[in-house]
Amino acid sequence: MGKATVLDGKALAEQRLAPQKARALALTKRLGRPPGLVVVRVGDDAASQIYVRYKMRRAQAVGMQAEVVHLPQSASAAEVGERLAALAAAAYVDAALLQLPLPPGLPTAALLARMDPDKDVDGLHPRSVAALYSGTPGPRPCTAPAVLHLLRATGRPLQGCHAVVVGRSAIVGRPIALLLLQQDATVTLCHAQTRDLAAHVRRADVLVVAAGSPELIAGDWIKEGATVIDVGINRREDGLCGDVDFAAAARRAAFITPVPGGVGPLTVAMVIDNALDLAAARAAAAGL
Ligand code: NDP
Repeated sequence: MGKATVLDGKALAEQRLAPQKARALALTKRLGRPPGLVVVRVGDDAASQIYVRYKMRRAQAVGMQAEVVHLPQSASAAEVGERLAALAAAAYVDAALLQLPLPPGLPTAALLARMDPDKDVDGLHPRSVAALYSGTPGPRPCTAPAVLHLLRATGRPLQGCHAVVVGRSAIVGRPIALLLLQQDATVTLCHAQTRDLAAHVRRADVLVVAAGSPELIAGDWIKEGATVIDVGINRREDGLCGDVDFAAAARRAAFITPVPGGVGPLTVAMVIDNALDLAAARAAAAGL
Protein backbone atom coordinates (compact mmCIF):
# COMPACT_ATOMS: atom_id res chain seq x y z
CA MET A 1 0.00 0.00 0.00
CA GLY A 2 1.12 3.49 -0.76
CA LYS A 3 0.72 6.81 0.96
CA ALA A 4 -2.76 7.64 -0.35
CA THR A 5 -5.78 7.96 1.91
CA VAL A 6 -8.27 5.33 0.78
CA LEU A 7 -11.77 6.80 0.38
CA ASP A 8 -14.07 4.27 2.01
CA GLY A 9 -17.24 4.36 -0.07
CA LYS A 10 -18.85 1.66 2.00
CA ALA A 11 -18.46 3.66 5.22
CA LEU A 12 -19.69 6.86 3.53
CA ALA A 13 -22.74 4.97 2.25
CA GLU A 14 -23.40 3.65 5.77
CA GLN A 15 -23.36 7.22 7.08
CA ARG A 16 -26.21 8.08 4.68
CA LEU A 17 -28.37 5.27 6.06
CA ALA A 18 -29.71 7.04 9.18
CA PRO A 19 -30.72 10.27 7.37
CA GLN A 20 -32.35 8.23 4.63
CA LYS A 21 -34.33 6.21 7.19
CA ALA A 22 -35.51 9.44 8.81
CA ARG A 23 -36.60 10.86 5.44
CA ALA A 24 -38.41 7.63 4.47
CA LEU A 25 -40.25 7.65 7.81
CA ALA A 26 -41.31 11.27 7.42
CA LEU A 27 -42.50 10.55 3.88
CA THR A 28 -44.44 7.50 5.05
CA LYS A 29 -46.35 9.78 7.43
CA ARG A 30 -46.99 12.35 4.70
CA LEU A 31 -48.04 9.90 2.00
CA GLY A 32 -49.91 7.49 4.29
CA ARG A 33 -47.77 4.66 2.86
CA PRO A 34 -44.05 3.98 2.45
CA PRO A 35 -42.39 5.68 -0.53
CA GLY A 36 -42.37 3.19 -3.43
CA LEU A 37 -39.49 2.19 -5.71
CA VAL A 38 -39.88 -0.25 -8.59
CA VAL A 39 -36.98 -1.60 -10.65
CA VAL A 40 -37.69 -3.14 -14.04
CA ARG A 41 -35.13 -5.76 -15.03
CA VAL A 42 -35.27 -7.39 -18.45
CA GLY A 43 -33.41 -10.61 -19.25
CA ASP A 44 -30.60 -12.50 -17.61
CA ASP A 45 -27.61 -10.14 -17.30
CA ALA A 46 -25.76 -11.52 -14.26
CA ALA A 47 -24.19 -8.22 -13.12
CA SER A 48 -27.57 -6.44 -13.37
CA GLN A 49 -29.12 -9.07 -11.14
CA ILE A 50 -26.52 -8.32 -8.45
CA TYR A 51 -26.92 -4.53 -8.75
CA VAL A 52 -30.72 -4.80 -8.53
CA ARG A 53 -30.39 -6.94 -5.41
CA TYR A 54 -28.19 -4.25 -3.76
CA LYS A 55 -30.73 -1.55 -4.61
CA MET A 56 -33.64 -3.61 -3.23
CA ARG A 57 -31.73 -4.38 -0.04
CA ARG A 58 -30.89 -0.74 0.55
CA ALA A 59 -34.42 0.48 -0.23
CA GLN A 60 -35.89 -2.04 2.20
CA ALA A 61 -33.32 -1.20 4.88
CA VAL A 62 -34.35 2.44 4.61
CA GLY A 63 -38.07 1.61 4.94
CA MET A 64 -39.23 2.01 1.37
CA GLN A 65 -41.67 -0.24 -0.46
CA ALA A 66 -39.32 -1.83 -3.01
CA GLU A 67 -40.23 -4.20 -5.81
CA VAL A 68 -38.62 -5.79 -8.88
CA VAL A 69 -40.52 -6.41 -12.09
CA HIS A 70 -38.59 -9.09 -13.98
CA LEU A 71 -39.35 -9.55 -17.67
CA PRO A 72 -37.87 -12.38 -19.75
CA GLN A 73 -34.93 -11.98 -22.16
CA SER A 74 -37.45 -12.45 -24.99
CA ALA A 75 -39.67 -9.50 -23.90
CA SER A 76 -40.61 -7.21 -26.79
CA ALA A 77 -40.22 -3.43 -26.79
CA ALA A 78 -44.02 -3.16 -26.60
CA GLU A 79 -44.13 -5.37 -23.50
CA VAL A 80 -41.41 -3.41 -21.71
CA GLY A 81 -43.07 -0.15 -22.74
CA GLU A 82 -46.43 -1.30 -21.35
CA ARG A 83 -44.83 -2.12 -18.01
CA LEU A 84 -43.20 1.29 -17.85
CA ALA A 85 -46.50 2.96 -18.71
CA ALA A 86 -48.21 0.96 -15.95
CA LEU A 87 -45.61 2.14 -13.44
CA ALA A 88 -46.06 5.72 -14.63
CA ALA A 89 -49.77 5.40 -13.86
CA ALA A 90 -49.45 3.55 -10.53
CA ALA A 91 -50.12 5.84 -7.58
CA TYR A 92 -48.01 3.82 -5.12
CA VAL A 93 -44.89 4.12 -7.32
CA ASP A 94 -42.88 7.26 -6.57
CA ALA A 95 -39.69 6.21 -8.30
CA ALA A 96 -38.99 3.79 -11.15
CA LEU A 97 -35.86 2.57 -12.83
CA LEU A 98 -35.17 0.56 -15.97
CA GLN A 99 -32.05 -1.48 -15.23
CA LEU A 100 -29.53 -1.29 -18.07
CA PRO A 101 -28.18 -2.84 -20.23
CA LEU A 102 -31.29 -4.16 -21.94
CA PRO A 103 -31.06 -7.32 -24.05
CA PRO A 104 -29.75 -6.62 -27.56
CA GLY A 105 -32.43 -5.43 -29.94
CA LEU A 106 -34.47 -3.43 -27.43
CA PRO A 107 -34.53 0.35 -28.10
CA THR A 108 -33.03 1.74 -24.88
CA ALA A 109 -33.54 5.46 -25.64
CA ALA A 110 -37.15 5.01 -26.78
CA LEU A 111 -37.99 2.96 -23.68
CA LEU A 112 -36.36 5.44 -21.31
CA ALA A 113 -38.53 8.11 -22.91
CA ARG A 114 -41.64 6.07 -21.95
CA MET A 115 -40.88 6.53 -18.25
CA ASP A 116 -42.66 9.15 -16.19
CA PRO A 117 -40.03 11.89 -15.81
CA ASP A 118 -41.43 12.65 -12.34
CA LYS A 119 -40.43 9.08 -11.28
CA ASP A 120 -37.11 8.87 -13.15
CA VAL A 121 -34.66 7.69 -10.45
CA ASP A 122 -31.74 7.17 -12.81
CA GLY A 123 -32.03 10.58 -14.45
CA LEU A 124 -32.04 9.13 -17.96
CA HIS A 125 -35.40 10.38 -19.28
CA PRO A 126 -34.86 13.11 -21.93
CA ARG A 127 -36.30 15.74 -19.53
CA SER A 128 -33.78 14.76 -16.83
CA VAL A 129 -30.94 14.77 -19.36
CA ALA A 130 -31.91 18.31 -20.39
CA ALA A 131 -31.93 19.37 -16.73
CA LEU A 132 -28.47 17.87 -16.22
CA TYR A 133 -27.18 19.63 -19.32
CA SER A 134 -28.54 23.00 -18.30
CA GLY A 135 -27.79 22.63 -14.59
CA THR A 136 -31.42 22.97 -13.47
CA PRO A 137 -32.82 20.73 -10.69
CA GLY A 138 -33.63 17.11 -11.53
CA PRO A 139 -32.47 13.59 -10.81
CA ARG A 140 -28.88 12.94 -11.91
CA PRO A 141 -27.59 9.52 -13.07
CA CYS A 142 -26.59 8.07 -9.71
CA THR A 143 -22.88 7.36 -10.30
CA ALA A 144 -22.22 11.06 -10.92
CA PRO A 145 -23.44 12.32 -7.50
CA ALA A 146 -21.67 9.33 -5.94
CA VAL A 147 -18.39 10.55 -7.43
CA LEU A 148 -19.08 14.10 -6.20
CA HIS A 149 -19.83 12.77 -2.72
CA LEU A 150 -16.42 11.04 -2.64
CA LEU A 151 -14.70 14.17 -3.91
CA ARG A 152 -16.37 16.25 -1.18
CA ALA A 153 -15.11 13.74 1.39
CA THR A 154 -11.53 14.73 0.50
CA GLY A 155 -12.25 18.26 1.74
CA ARG A 156 -10.52 19.68 -1.31
CA PRO A 157 -12.24 22.35 -3.41
CA LEU A 158 -12.99 21.48 -7.04
CA GLN A 159 -13.08 25.08 -8.20
CA GLY A 160 -10.35 25.73 -10.75
CA CYS A 161 -8.79 22.27 -10.50
CA HIS A 162 -8.04 20.21 -13.58
CA ALA A 163 -10.36 17.19 -13.66
CA VAL A 164 -9.79 14.45 -16.22
CA VAL A 165 -12.64 12.01 -16.86
CA VAL A 166 -11.88 8.85 -18.82
CA GLY A 167 -15.08 7.47 -20.41
CA ARG A 168 -17.89 9.40 -22.08
CA SER A 169 -20.94 7.14 -21.76
CA ALA A 170 -24.30 8.87 -21.39
CA ILE A 171 -24.85 7.09 -18.08
CA VAL A 172 -21.49 7.51 -16.36
CA GLY A 173 -18.66 9.52 -17.95
CA ARG A 174 -20.65 12.36 -19.48
CA PRO A 175 -22.80 13.15 -16.40
CA ILE A 176 -19.67 13.10 -14.22
CA ALA A 177 -17.95 15.57 -16.56
CA LEU A 178 -21.00 17.87 -16.51
CA LEU A 179 -21.27 17.84 -12.70
CA LEU A 180 -17.55 18.61 -12.38
CA LEU A 181 -17.96 21.49 -14.81
CA GLN A 182 -20.87 22.80 -12.71
CA GLN A 183 -18.50 22.69 -9.73
CA ASP A 184 -16.15 25.00 -11.67
CA ALA A 185 -13.48 22.40 -12.40
CA THR A 186 -11.68 22.58 -15.73
CA VAL A 187 -12.68 19.33 -17.37
CA THR A 188 -10.96 17.15 -19.95
CA LEU A 189 -13.13 14.29 -21.23
CA CYS A 190 -11.15 11.35 -22.65
CA HIS A 191 -12.39 8.29 -24.55
CA ALA A 192 -11.18 5.37 -26.62
CA GLN A 193 -10.11 7.63 -29.50
CA THR A 194 -8.09 9.98 -27.26
CA ARG A 195 -4.48 10.26 -28.38
CA ASP A 196 -1.84 9.87 -25.64
CA LEU A 197 -4.18 9.16 -22.73
CA ALA A 198 -1.20 9.06 -20.36
CA ALA A 199 -0.33 12.71 -21.11
CA HIS A 200 -3.86 13.82 -20.16
CA VAL A 201 -3.93 11.70 -17.01
CA ARG A 202 -0.56 13.12 -15.90
CA ARG A 203 -2.11 16.61 -15.75
CA ALA A 204 -5.10 15.57 -13.62
CA ASP A 205 -5.56 17.03 -10.15
CA VAL A 206 -8.74 14.95 -10.06
CA LEU A 207 -8.90 11.77 -12.13
CA VAL A 208 -12.18 9.90 -12.62
CA VAL A 209 -11.96 6.70 -14.64
CA ALA A 210 -15.06 4.98 -16.03
CA ALA A 211 -13.79 2.99 -19.00
CA GLY A 212 -14.49 -0.63 -18.05
CA SER A 213 -10.93 -1.66 -18.93
CA PRO A 214 -8.97 -3.49 -16.20
CA GLU A 215 -6.03 -1.47 -14.91
CA LEU A 216 -6.04 0.77 -17.97
CA ILE A 217 -4.41 3.55 -15.90
CA ALA A 218 -0.82 2.83 -14.88
CA GLY A 219 0.38 4.01 -11.48
CA ASP A 220 3.17 6.18 -12.87
CA TRP A 221 0.63 8.20 -14.92
CA ILE A 222 -0.83 9.62 -11.71
CA LYS A 223 0.16 13.18 -10.77
CA GLU A 224 1.73 13.35 -7.30
CA GLY A 225 -0.97 14.29 -4.79
CA ALA A 226 -3.91 13.73 -7.15
CA THR A 227 -7.35 12.45 -6.21
CA VAL A 228 -8.22 9.24 -8.06
CA ILE A 229 -11.80 7.98 -8.35
CA ASP A 230 -12.04 4.56 -10.00
CA VAL A 231 -15.55 3.86 -11.25
CA GLY A 232 -14.66 0.77 -13.27
CA ILE A 233 -15.85 -2.67 -12.21
CA ASN A 234 -14.10 -5.50 -14.02
CA ARG A 235 -14.50 -9.19 -13.27
CA ARG A 236 -11.36 -11.27 -13.41
CA GLU A 237 -10.56 -14.78 -12.26
CA ASP A 238 -8.92 -13.41 -9.10
CA GLY A 239 -11.96 -11.18 -8.30
CA LEU A 240 -13.08 -7.63 -9.05
CA CYS A 241 -10.68 -4.91 -10.12
CA GLY A 242 -11.02 -1.33 -11.26
CA ASP A 243 -9.70 0.63 -14.23
CA VAL A 244 -6.68 1.90 -12.26
CA ASP A 245 -3.63 -0.05 -11.08
CA PHE A 246 -4.59 0.57 -7.44
CA ALA A 247 -1.38 -0.42 -5.62
CA ALA A 248 0.90 1.62 -7.90
CA ALA A 249 -1.47 4.61 -8.09
CA ALA A 250 -1.81 4.69 -4.29
CA ARG A 251 1.93 5.39 -4.03
CA ARG A 252 1.47 8.72 -5.86
CA ALA A 253 -2.12 9.81 -5.19
CA ALA A 254 -3.27 11.70 -2.08
CA PHE A 255 -6.73 10.09 -2.19
CA ILE A 256 -7.92 6.99 -4.01
CA THR A 257 -11.03 4.80 -4.13
CA PRO A 258 -10.81 1.01 -3.92
CA VAL A 259 -12.68 -1.48 -6.13
CA PRO A 260 -14.82 -2.92 -4.66
CA GLY A 261 -15.88 -0.64 -1.79
CA GLY A 262 -15.48 2.76 -3.45
CA VAL A 263 -17.95 4.23 -5.92
CA GLY A 264 -20.27 1.19 -6.01
CA PRO A 265 -21.86 1.38 -2.52
CA LEU A 266 -22.33 5.15 -2.84
CA THR A 267 -24.02 4.75 -6.21
CA VAL A 268 -26.60 2.50 -4.53
CA ALA A 269 -27.02 5.09 -1.75
CA MET A 270 -27.59 7.81 -4.37
CA VAL A 271 -30.34 5.72 -6.01
CA ILE A 272 -32.18 5.94 -2.69
CA ASP A 273 -31.49 9.68 -2.31
CA ASN A 274 -32.95 10.26 -5.79
CA ALA A 275 -35.96 8.04 -5.03
CA LEU A 276 -36.67 9.92 -1.79
CA ASP A 277 -36.31 13.28 -3.59
CA LEU A 278 -38.89 12.14 -6.17
CA ALA A 279 -41.25 10.86 -3.46
CA ALA A 280 -40.95 14.19 -1.63
CA ALA A 281 -41.70 16.11 -4.83
CA ARG A 282 -44.78 13.94 -5.48
CA ALA A 283 -45.99 14.45 -1.92
CA ALA A 284 -45.57 18.21 -2.31
CA ALA A 285 -47.34 18.20 -5.69
CA ALA A 286 -50.26 16.34 -4.09
CA GLY A 287 -50.42 19.00 -1.38
CA LEU A 288 -49.38 16.54 1.36
P1 NDP B 1 -19.31 2.04 -21.49
O1 NDP B 1 -18.71 0.81 -22.08
O2 NDP B 1 -20.67 2.48 -21.92
O3 NDP B 1 -18.33 3.27 -21.75
C1 NDP B 1 -16.95 3.15 -21.59
C2 NDP B 1 -16.28 4.45 -21.97
O4 NDP B 1 -14.89 4.30 -21.76
C3 NDP B 1 -16.47 4.85 -23.42
O5 NDP B 1 -16.68 6.23 -23.51
C4 NDP B 1 -15.15 4.45 -24.08
O6 NDP B 1 -14.77 5.28 -25.15
C5 NDP B 1 -14.17 4.64 -22.93
N1 NDP B 1 -13.02 3.74 -23.06
C6 NDP B 1 -13.02 2.41 -23.20
N2 NDP B 1 -11.76 1.95 -23.33
C7 NDP B 1 -10.96 3.03 -23.28
C8 NDP B 1 -9.56 3.22 -23.38
N3 NDP B 1 -8.74 2.19 -23.58
N4 NDP B 1 -9.08 4.48 -23.29
C9 NDP B 1 -9.90 5.53 -23.10
N5 NDP B 1 -11.24 5.41 -22.99
C10 NDP B 1 -11.76 4.18 -23.09
O7 NDP B 1 -19.27 1.81 -19.92
P2 NDP B 1 -20.04 2.57 -18.72
O8 NDP B 1 -19.79 4.02 -18.84
O9 NDP B 1 -21.42 2.09 -18.59
O10 NDP B 1 -19.25 2.00 -17.47
C11 NDP B 1 -17.86 2.21 -17.30
C12 NDP B 1 -17.34 1.35 -16.17
O11 NDP B 1 -17.94 1.77 -14.96
C13 NDP B 1 -17.67 -0.14 -16.28
O12 NDP B 1 -16.59 -0.87 -15.74
C14 NDP B 1 -18.88 -0.32 -15.40
O13 NDP B 1 -18.99 -1.62 -14.89
C15 NDP B 1 -18.57 0.67 -14.32
N6 NDP B 1 -19.73 1.18 -13.59
C16 NDP B 1 -19.60 1.30 -12.25
C17 NDP B 1 -20.62 1.82 -11.51
C18 NDP B 1 -20.42 1.95 -10.04
O14 NDP B 1 -21.37 2.23 -9.33
N7 NDP B 1 -19.21 1.77 -9.52
C19 NDP B 1 -21.88 2.25 -12.11
C20 NDP B 1 -21.89 2.16 -13.54
C21 NDP B 1 -20.84 1.63 -14.24
P3 NDP B 1 -15.60 5.40 -26.54
O15 NDP B 1 -16.81 6.24 -26.19
O16 NDP B 1 -14.68 6.08 -27.45
O17 NDP B 1 -15.96 4.00 -26.92
